[in-house]
Amino acid sequence: MEDCLFCKIIKGDIPSTKVYEDEYVYAFNDIEPQAPHHVIIVPKIHIKSANEITAENSSYIAKIFEAASKIAKELGIDENGYRIVNNCGKDGGQTVGHIHFHLTGGRQFGWPAG
Ligand code: 5GP
Ligand code: ZN
Repeated sequence: MEDCLFCKIIKGDIPSTKVYEDEYVYAFNDIEPQAPHHVIIVPKIHIKSANEITAENSSYIAKIFEAASKIAKELGIDENGYRIVNNCGKDGGQTVGHIHFHLTGGRQFGWPAG
């Protein structure tokens, strides 16, 4: 999608620090990390939010979780654990309109989320 920040990052038009990439997903370090490890994982197709997940595109979401499992092992946070977050819409705190999952680790997180 033309005006989408994360589509531009996927295309390489906006630079990012790549952590992982395959045919379906792209993962990069968050510009404003909230934990020692903070990776953003996005599908390589433009899906606006969790509201737009359908039977046709949900395989991309599965691929995101496959990638998260690989990345966590590569970062060495699989043993201690980590948190995967998707913010959806205004109340969810979504600020970029291309679905993305935050993979955060390297510290203890509180619950419930703020
Ligand atoms: P959201 O609030 O939508 O769930 O998460 C958007 C995330 O994208 C935020 O954590 C923010 O720091 C990150 N972000 C926004 N713009 C950029 C950018 O240009 N580059 C990178 N690497 N991360 C970004
Ligand atoms: Zn996009």
